[in-house]
Amino acid sequence: MLVEQSSRVEQTARLKDEIQRIKKEKDVVILAHNYQIPDVQDIADFTGDSLGLSRKAAKVNQKTILFCGVHFMAETAAIICPDKRVLIPDLQAGCSLSDSITVDELRNWKKQHPNAITVGYVNTTAEIKSELDYCCTSANAVNVVKAIPADKEILFLPDMFLGSYVAKMTGRKKMYIWAGECHVHAGIKPEDITKKLDSLKDAEFVIHPECSCTTPMLFDMASGSFDNHKVSILSTEGMMTHVNSSKAKNFVVATETGILYKMRQQNPDKTFIPASEKAECQYMKMITLDKVYDALVQDKYEVVVPKEIADKARLAIERMLAIS
Ligand code: SF4
Repeated sequence: MLVEQSSRVEQTARLKDEIQRIKKEKDVVILAHNYQIPDVQDIADFTGDSLGLSRKAAKVNQKTILFCGVHFMAETAAIICPDKRVLIPDLQAGCSLSDSITVDELRNWKKQHPNAITVGYVNTTAEIKSELDYCCTSANAVNVVKAIPADKEILFLPDMFLGSYVAKMTGRKKMYIWAGECHVHAGIKPEDITKKLDSLKDAEFVIHPECSCTTPMLFDMASGSFDNHKVSILSTEGMMTHVNSSKAKNFVVATETGILYKMRQQNPDKTFIPASEKAECQYMKMITLDKVYDALVQDKYEVVVPKEIADKARLAIERMLAIS
């Protein structure tokens, strides 16, 4: 058993070395989302959230990006970096939230509200983004909606929890919210989180709003569910800086469990507990080292966004970036 384990460790180390060698030889930059498995995060040039990674990719010299994340994120990289080739190791790595609205459904919805401004979460396909007025992330959705004149109708999609949170925070009345959701948050209950926080001495509650697995918690927080605890809503970098510098020893972390890897690695003397062990995105975990290796060797799978769609989608992203 021990021999088996050590040979597996050696094989993984060899594979990682090979990936590093081929990556340099082929001049490829590897981006890995925070929710990727630890081995994939280890071989990445950059780890982070989806938009941050795409913006970083636009600045590097390499002409090929290997994006270890889900499909809409690779599309976003292709939209932001039109002069680069974007590869994803597994085309099946999708997203239940981005699948919750089709472009025909969106067009019909827009027809019913012809004067409405359309705001869509970054967790959408390129085709959906091309139909939006504004794109948003969970970190800037409130500011994006605040920037739209108060008398305008808003169609917000596809995440109903993020939409409800934004409506609550802005007091916006004429805001219609699409009933989409991400499967990952199912089963995460505020009372379970409160129990965890109560059971740990001086535990801090940190929420990373990158994906929809945490948007119901933003809504619960705005409704007062965690009023007795220290709660921080932070970006990836903000979260790492915060947990590194905080005097607290215990943290309950609300986001997909993949992010705990770097936190534990950088803070071995602190305890990090996921708000829910169920918060695991199986699409994110579809990317393995073997698939990364195959993608590098065989130059697959290229993610191509047609120019007319990419140009329109980029506008919605740029409008968001101008506000936040
Ligand atoms: S966690 Fe949810 S929203 Fe994020 S990629 Fe996975 S399915 Fe999509």
